[in-house]
Amino acid sequence: MMEKPNADMSQKSWHTLSSENALELLNVSTGGLSHDEATKRLEEYGANRLPEAARRSGFMRFLLQFHNILIYVLIGSAVITAVFEHWIDMGVILAVVVANAVIGFIQEGKAEKAMDAIRYMLAPRANVLRDGERYSIEGDGLVPGDIVLLEAGDKVPADLRLLSAHGLSVQESILTGESVPVDKQTNPVRGDAALGDRSCMAFSGTLVTAGQGRGVVVGTGSLTEIGRISGLLSEVETLTTPLVAQMGVFAKWLTLLILLIAALLLVYGSFVGHYEFTEMFMAVVGLAVAAIPEGLPAVLTITLAIGVQAMARRNAIVRRLPAIETLGAVSVICTDKTGTLTRNEMMVASVLTTKHLFALEGDGYAPKGLLRLEETQVAPSEHAVLEELAQAAALCNDAFLREHDGVWTVEGDPMEGALLAFAGKMDVDARKTQAAWARTDAIPFDAKHRFMATLNHNHEHHAFIFVKGAPEQVLAMCQDQRSMNGGLEPLDMDYWHAEAEAIAALGQRVLTFAVKAVPSEHTVLEHKDVDGTLTLIGMTGMIDPPRTEAIAAVKECHSAGIRVKMITGDHAKTAAAIGQKIGLQNPEKVLRGNDLDDMDDAVLRQAVLDCDIFARTSPEHKLRLVMALQSHGMTVAMTGDGVNDAPALKRADAGIAMGMKGSEAAKEAAELVLADDNFVSIAAAVREGRTVYDNIKKVISWTLPTNAGEAMTIIVALLAGMTLPITPVQILWVNLITAITLGIALAFEPTEESTMRRPPRRRDEPLLTSGLVWHIILVSTLFLCGVFGMYHYAVERGYSVELARTIALNTLVVMEIFHLFFIRNIYGTSLTWKAVRGTRIVWAVVLIVAVAQFAITYLPLLQTVFSTKPIPFLDGMLIVGVGVALFAVVETEKQIRLRISPKERNDYTGV
Ligand code: ADP
Ligand code: MG
Repeated sequence: MMEKPNADMSQKSWHTLSSENALELLNVSTGGLSHDEATKRLEEYGANRLPEAARRSGFMRFLLQFHNILIYVLIGSAVITAVFEHWIDMGVILAVVVANAVIGFIQEGKAEKAMDAIRYMLAPRANVLRDGERYSIEGDGLVPGDIVLLEAGDKVPADLRLLSAHGLSVQESILTGESVPVDKQTNPVRGDAALGDRSCMAFSGTLVTAGQGRGVVVGTGSLTEIGRISGLLSEVETLTTPLVAQMGVFAKWLTLLILLIAALLLVYGSFVGHYEFTEMFMAVVGLAVAAIPEGLPAVLTITLAIGVQAMARRNAIVRRLPAIETLGAVSVICTDKTGTLTRNEMMVASVLTTKHLFALEGDGYAPKGLLRLEETQVAPSEHAVLEELAQAAALCNDAFLREHDGVWTVEGDPMEGALLAFAGKMDVDARKTQAAWARTDAIPFDAKHRFMATLNHNHEHHAFIFVKGAPEQVLAMCQDQRSMNGGLEPLDMDYWHAEAEAIAALGQRVLTFAVKAVPSEHTVLEHKDVDGTLTLIGMTGMIDPPRTEAIAAVKECHSAGIRVKMITGDHAKTAAAIGQKIGLQNPEKVLRGNDLDDMDDAVLRQAVLDCDIFARTSPEHKLRLVMALQSHGMTVAMTGDGVNDAPALKRADAGIAMGMKGSEAAKEAAELVLADDNFVSIAAAVREGRTVYDNIKKVISWTLPTNAGEAMTIIVALLAGMTLPITPVQILWVNLITAITLGIALAFEPTEESTMRRPPRRRDEPLLTSGLVWHIILVSTLFLCGVFGMYHYAVERGYSVELARTIALNTLVVMEIFHLFFIRNIYGTSLTWKAVRGTRIVWAVVLIVAVAQFAITYLPLLQTVFSTKPIPFLDGMLIVGVGVALFAVVETEKQIRLRISPKERNDYTGV
């Protein structure tokens, strides 16, 4: 590792030093390090990363592939065949075992890579000051001396000595075990203070639950407190989901059952059937090997890994694997509005003062744009109140605008970025204003109280409190309003409410600004300072266009039987206007947070069903909504970004956090993280989730009847006292060839066309449904008929037993191939050109199997090993005909099922 312990740094008791001292020791100013210095220190101290847990070696991973009850049984069989000196059988069984391990090894490696890539995508970021400007950088690029900005929801990215703290509280349970957040401040504490009492420090890995602050990095990587105690970052994700786990248990029981049957048959055959014991034993071994679905665990892992990758490609990052299955079952999506359904590219379009409603033009975040009053252009200087409004917008603001090649971008909240652009358009230089009016304290924005306030002082001993927030909220905090000549006049509530509603009805997000002069000694801002004594300056209306692609995605969800509900903190009118544009089902009906508060749980349960828009909600409402929806048996996906959203995300069946604007707290509570914050990615994740589930089911639906068919062939022959139509070693061959080819192909199946046109699956759907059992019985019976039928046909024609067996063997394989093509489309017809054309993987495996079958049938060497004989051409055609017949029968059966219950679930999960 690169970390270079610096005794001088790591042994300092930073909590005993004043913040000035700390800055001095770290040789950094309050504006942060320069970029060059940061680069230099990064080389010196190494990346801010905990050393990774040692991985299992490749050899160990390979050996672990054999650690599986199915494989043990196979190895046991190989040993027994060796005892009987049936070397060929032993060789084939061992080939099965090794091939299986190799495939499992390769695929598991791929799956792990997929998970690693995702972990990388989820790497946390940190907001730092460098060269006096705010930057968002990757957390592992932090160095001692960096100045880090903290806000609610952040995970502290390194050990910090705090320089400022406004209502800052931090949850430090990973260090102290104490789950109650502790308040932070900036004064030094005693040297012997316990970790939990070092209130002027913020430690890496802990979670900011409220407030704002900044601190200087004093330790990174393994030199942090968390690095000292844990040393290792060892969160190894296992590749499993409930369904796969269920399958594992099933496989174990199945193995026991098979062994039992095999033992009974051995006894029966030897004593009742009077077979020779070794011959009998080989048959039973062949039976066991054929029946055991040894390839299944590996194939299911592959299926999951492919699903994880497919989702990641679509910007949906799975944090917990079981979410893949849950997503496929989602029946209602509760989504944020801002940034998810809309672009979160904000621009102030309306400006409202005591007298006038201005329209403002512009492009993106560039601080240039024309101001109009009733169609005529006006200069901002003509209206003094606009300057005050712009000042408030610039000061009550945490964002940062940056220009690069003429393109303006925002660091921080896009809405606040838009306000900075607005200030510029009013001819107010935001940076100069911020420099002249230093911020001494702040009440950060919180979705609960919906406003933000700052206290600013200038050098001439003036002090003002600036407030911005939702209109209802801020209006209630005002006592008067700014008149046109700059004086004060009584607050005209009706005017503001009516105008705010009118702006909101255009789909704009309305913000209200207020101000209050305070004595310059006033340096601490508290809620009571802003209660009812403010002067209203004006309002802004911001456009935030809906994402066009989200409109299509919402439609897709509707056709997939998924309700989409919008939950926003915005004004009801704004929400309704956006809901209309996005195409929600019930855009006229809006419930507000207050309405929800007035309902008890029973009333709410009814109300959630036909309302799709919830406005002016706070995070607690989200939790109630999730529970109300779940009480109807729905599978709920819920999005969130703030710290306070964490409980709702945890409670939801599929919690979805925003990757870009989401807090670390939300991400940790979520199952899925959206890399692009886009609703489209949710719909895509649901589609992939359904596809993965389908493919798992397809793999199972193909494997079980195949194994059952192979096993039944031996059982029936033994019970009936007949010659075996396929010898045990031939069964082993079939098993080897098909398990590593056909058995895997289904894991790669693309989404079926109707995937997003059928209703969601039930969460409690069992693995072995009656439909699947029926399919197993039907197909294995058809396999039996095909194998025995062709064998008898050959015997009737006077062929040798060897040739008859070769024909039966090939019939079995051909039927398996046709069955594969059938399984590819369990929800629709297989008789389309697209279905027949298949995928490249399907044809590749079919080709491999065909070559293998030609080899065993026509190559003299293999003929001696497996006692096969060349098949005449016409009989070969007949074998293919049997495959076609099998296909026709199962396809007809499916079509009948599709017709009888077109609206019902038509797969094997239906009854
Ligand atoms: P959304 O669900 O649209 O993200 P929020 O909960 O973020 O809604 O915001 C709710 C309301 O709070 C907004 O309509 C706006 O009036 C106000 N608001 C949002 N962000 C800020 C902020 N940074 N400062 C002040 N007020 C804000
Ligand atoms: Mg928001």
